[in-house]
Amino acid sequence: MTQRIVIAGSGFAGLWAALSAARAVAVAGRDGDVAITVVSPAPQLHIRPRLYEAVLEGMAPDLAALFEAVGVRHVSGVVTTIHAGRRAVDVTGTDGAEFTLPYDRFVLAAGSRLFTPPIPGLAEHAFNVDQLDSAHALDAHLKALAARPETAARNTVVVAGGGFSGIETAAEMPDRLRAILGADAKIRVVVVEQAPAIGPDLGPVPRPVIEQALAECGVEIVAGTAVAAIDAGGVTTSTGERIAAATVVWTAGARANPLAAQISGGHDRFGRVPADPFLRAVGSDGIFVAGDVARAATDDLGNVAAMSCQHALSLGRVAGHNAAAELVGLPTHPYSQPKYVTCLDLGPWGALFTEGWDRQVRLTRDEGKAVKREINTKWIYPPQPDRDAVFAIANPDYVIVP
Ligand SMILES: Cc1cc2nc3c(=O)[nH]c(=O)nc-3n(C[C@H](O)[C@H](O)[C@H](O)COP(=O)(O)OP(=O)(O)OC[C@H]3O[C@@H](n4cnc5c(N)ncnc54)[C@H](O)[C@@H]3O)c2cc1C
Repeated sequence: MTQRIVIAGSGFAGLWAALSAARAVAVAGRDGDVAITVVSPAPQLHIRPRLYEAVLEGMAPDLAALFEAVGVRHVSGVVTTIHAGRRAVDVTGTDGAEFTLPYDRFVLAAGSRLFTPPIPGLAEHAFNVDQLDSAHALDAHLKALAARPETAARNTVVVAGGGFSGIETAAEMPDRLRAILGADAKIRVVVVEQAPAIGPDLGPVPRPVIEQALAECGVEIVAGTAVAAIDAGGVTTSTGERIAAATVVWTAGARANPLAAQISGGHDRFGRVPADPFLRAVGSDGIFVAGDVARAATDDLGNVAAMSCQHALSLGRVAGHNAAAELVGLPTHPYSQPKYVTCLDLGPWGALFTEGWDRQVRLTRDEGKAVKREINTKWIYPPQPDRDAVFAIANPDYVIVP
């Protein structure tokens, strides 16, 4: 009887889980014995790490031909309920139809969503760069600013949150605004960060470089201050300061997809499901987790995968392989990703490339930017729909960052 792997999500983790599972089935010589189904709203990979950029074309590459090349079925819809006990998921199709998909192995790879605390006015007035549609909404808003009368508020953008994506969004913004409002417009871009310093999760080592780069880009940093309220005219901070701004971009962190809460286990503060070394959800038979929904150790030194594309790509490969390996009798593969790098886009200044969990600075300015360009236009994009070429890089120990 055909066995079934169902994967929720066609992001970085879900895509590579599907490709890796297909490879494992082929390696075992069991083509046709295992049906692999990916459920997601559309057969597309949304390039979330680039959604802070000014040009949003090419951010949703189509996966239909790739899935077809490796024999993976795509179902357009969303998983709504996970029935771990009877091994089935409920799906609502994009056409509104509701149905159930039974599985032998399920891979949850449904990603994350922007964390939005109940700050007055946030839901109504803040933009974000978390998902493709919200990035388009910000873009349309920025372009429409040109038709408004010139005021300080029109020319001001507040970026709420000075973490990774807040820094990238802010660094790009002065040039982006000038392109819309004119080279002579008096632009103001302010990052408001509640921690005492910018980039709290990036640590102290790269901070001087980030501060210098943002200063050169013309970005102000207001640290040690939280955004307390947002309205159509700007923000009020926790110190009572008022910043008049027509544009507020909320970037303060991510939380695992709510589906993660349907899987039992001691979730972490981001809502991620704890995974064993083979990326099985701890305490739930037949379920694997990968990408932003998974809390997985990257090494035996206590480091844990970040909610990052870099980790999602490897987590997906391992989870997909293991889901298939358990069904076709191949050895399962433990997840390990000891090498960790970051590449932070700093707009016209360049980019900052670091190595290690303490983020030692390795490349800056144009050299860093060349690496960022390579990552953002090649490494994270889906491969061509060529079965053999895909299977050559869909193995669970494939290393993206050498
Ligand atoms: C602005 C920004 C900048 C970033 N910069 C970087 C960076 O420089 N480096 C880096 O490594 N990471 C970066 N990241 C983080 C990175 O984008 C995420 O960690 C990565 O996308 C996680 O991959 P994923 O496959 O787990 O989830 P996602 O990419 O979010 O994919 C989730 C998939 O699940 C689907 N889905 C959602 N709900 C359901 C459901 N109920 N049923 C079925 N399918 C569902 C979605 O449609 C999507 O296909 C950035 C993120 C943002 C927003």
